[in-house]
Amino acid sequence: MNNSEKYLYNRYNKKEKDFVMWMAFPGIYSFSMSSLGYLWMFKLIDETENINIERICSDTQNTRYNVSDVNLFGFSFSFDMDFLTIFSMLEKYNIPLKSSERGDYPLIFAGGPVVSANPQPYKEFFDFFVIGDGEEINIQAANICKQTSCKDDALKKLSELEGIYVPKYPKKVKKLTNKLSKCVYTPILSENAFFKNTFILEMSRGCANRCGFCLASYLNLPLRSVPYEELINTINLGLSYTNKIALLGAQISAHPKFHEVCKYIYDKIIAGEKIEMSVSSLRVDAITPDVVKTLVAAGQKNSTLAIEAGSERLRKVINKNLTEEQIFNAVKIARDNGLKGLKFYGMIGLPTETEKDIYSIIELAKKLKQKFKGFDISFGFSSFVPKPNTPFQWIGRENTKSLENKANYLKKELHKLGIVAHISSIKWDYWQAVLSRGDESLTDFLIEAYKNGGKLGAFKSAAKKYKIDANYFATQNYKYDKYLPWDFIEIKPGKEFLQKESIKLLNQN
Ligand code: SF4
Repeated sequence: MNNSEKYLYNRYNKKEKDFVMWMAFPGIYSFSMSSLGYLWMFKLIDETENINIERICSDTQNTRYNVSDVNLFGFSFSFDMDFLTIFSMLEKYNIPLKSSERGDYPLIFAGGPVVSANPQPYKEFFDFFVIGDGEEINIQAANICKQTSCKDDALKKLSELEGIYVPKYPKKVKKLTNKLSKCVYTPILSENAFFKNTFILEMSRGCANRCGFCLASYLNLPLRSVPYEELINTINLGLSYTNKIALLGAQISAHPKFHEVCKYIYDKIIAGEKIEMSVSSLRVDAITPDVVKTLVAAGQKNSTLAIEAGSERLRKVINKNLTEEQIFNAVKIARDNGLKGLKFYGMIGLPTETEKDIYSIIELAKKLKQKFKGFDISFGFSSFVPKPNTPFQWIGRENTKSLENKANYLKKELHKLGIVAHISSIKWDYWQAVLSRGDESLTDFLIEAYKNGGKLGAFKSAAKKYKIDANYFATQNYKYDKYLPWDFIEIKPGKEFLQKESIKLLNQN
């Protein structure tokens, strides 16, 4: 696909052209080359005998295979708004959007966090969905499609597999959870990747912290960690190709050997190896002198710290349980060991939030500014979006006007303190919430929003045209006994647990 690509595994070259799969990334090439999950799925199928696979991105110009040669077409679906790019990619190859109108076209499926949590708004566009970790099931599904010439027979067989949801043959679907005995890493390096020539490796999957709003945690329970030896071998594999490595995981600091891994890399740097290392956002407990020293030695100047809310009360409600003392201690360690700045991530509109909580953010920022003069402090905020399969799935988000008021207030007050604050678009977050808790009634609305250009106005007019009560999905509180569109997906720890947890968290006031 691109001359700058370097494969870190042996490709299987003796394949007949008997079965062709396209694996699509709903974004541009450079982003696809930094998407670990997408590249890893590609590698696993690329290594499978007799399945020819080609990567397709939104900016792909030429393909090795024609669409008429393709037998199976899979999309990675990681963000709610990915459907817009997926539709444009289908249209680019003249493929009808609805699966019922596709006749002889290949079977089209999707996998990834969005559809694993709630595939229902998209059920008319895909023939099947992979629910959960796709490492093994993708290969199994491709083999079934390869061995079964009739599309409908293939779908029937697929519907019998654990972790596959076929809308035409609905049933209870169990989310797949893989062990993490092998380390997932960037199998193809590229000069043109968004993170140029960077070897990313997954240290752990999931997060045991279980913040009430967090899909990354609840969709990936239990927390799984790659064994230390395997990690070290993978790091060495990466370092034999590039000097840039990135450690990935929602809670890498919870890896039982996180500090040993940092020390391993630190010792190499001290011994003279030129290694650039970065880590995904840090939790407060990861900010220890050793870790910060390693990051600084590996060229990192700034890092991010997710505090979510300004007051201890609200942090308790969301299960973040982080004291102000811990925050100040972390900033001190970061500064004293060489970092130049920290970006704090927060969320507005969290359940039970009051004006006092918003004011606490300003107070916290003021104190940080005073205590750590010269240290670069900035803030980033998004607004609360209720996510399926989390304890806050029943809680509607606050209305757009009042969230925008809060956002403007924060921006203005932080600006007065000389602090830059980036705030996500409240209006886009609203539509994200509609999709997040949506159901199949959104089908034509999604097509219309796409056809009208996919901007905010297009969503609004599409909702009007198809009489979609968007507030019902985005802002309404649901009763605990309500049947939810995604309830047919079995995800541990289950709805009963989520309800108990929800009641417990919300009553901590
Ligand atoms: S600590 Fe971060 S990743 Fe873990 S549950 Fe909370 S928000 Fe999610």
